Amino acid sequence: MRTLIAEDDEPVGRALRDVLSANGYAVTLVHRGADVLLRHAEAQVILLDLGLPDIDGLEVLRKLRRVDDVVVIVLTCRDDERSVVLALRLGADDYLVKPVRLAELLARMEASVRRYRHAELDGTGYSAGGLQIDFGLRQVTVDGSVIHLTPTEFDVLAVLARRAGTAVSREVIQDEIWGDAFLTKSNALDVHLHQLRMKLGKPVITTIRGFGYRLEP
Ligand code: CA
Repeated sequence: MRTLIAEDDEPVGRALRDVLSANGYAVTLVHRGADVLLRHAEAQVILLDLGLPDIDGLEVLRKLRRVDDVVVIVLTCRDDERSVVLALRLGADDYLVKPVRLAELLARMEASVRRYRHAELDGTGYSAGGLQIDFGLRQVTVDGSVIHLTPTEFDVLAVLARRAGTAVSREVIQDEIWGDAFLTKSNALDVHLHQLRMKLGKPVITTIRGFGYRLEP
């Protein structure tokens, strides 16, 4: 898995690079936001620090998402709710606060790899009530208009669509998306679902209180 690490703290960056390389990732380490915008096409996963010296990581993410749906995992010291929600809304797939446990980082990255492989293998589609999903192209249309979703928004929708008409628990969704069923402190799923509902513009996702969600067929 080709990985781009954007980290201006040299020892932290090198430690991350060494441990990911030892786990089979092909790692490029850069120090500036501008390098991410130049080199994102080489990567399948980007680990993005927010406190970068030239461009704020959130601005890097905003620019990146106009051109690339590569997996982006934010890795930062900022743990305030506003930064987390903003990063997810701008299209971050995941958000980890430093210092991150290595096992957790690897698990989240492996979940990203699985999602990519899953998407590559599954070329079938879903169609109901004006909503069409092409799992192979990762494209969604509503009444014929293409809807631009972030990679994680797409994945949440895909998890629900593969079980359309049945209630899917939060734990199942979280496990498929992030490789962790019990992200109890994280409101990432709520943010992604809110965005997804706004973009789809149709009440097709029903909340099952205290359990999860259902895509109405
Ligand atoms: Ca930094």
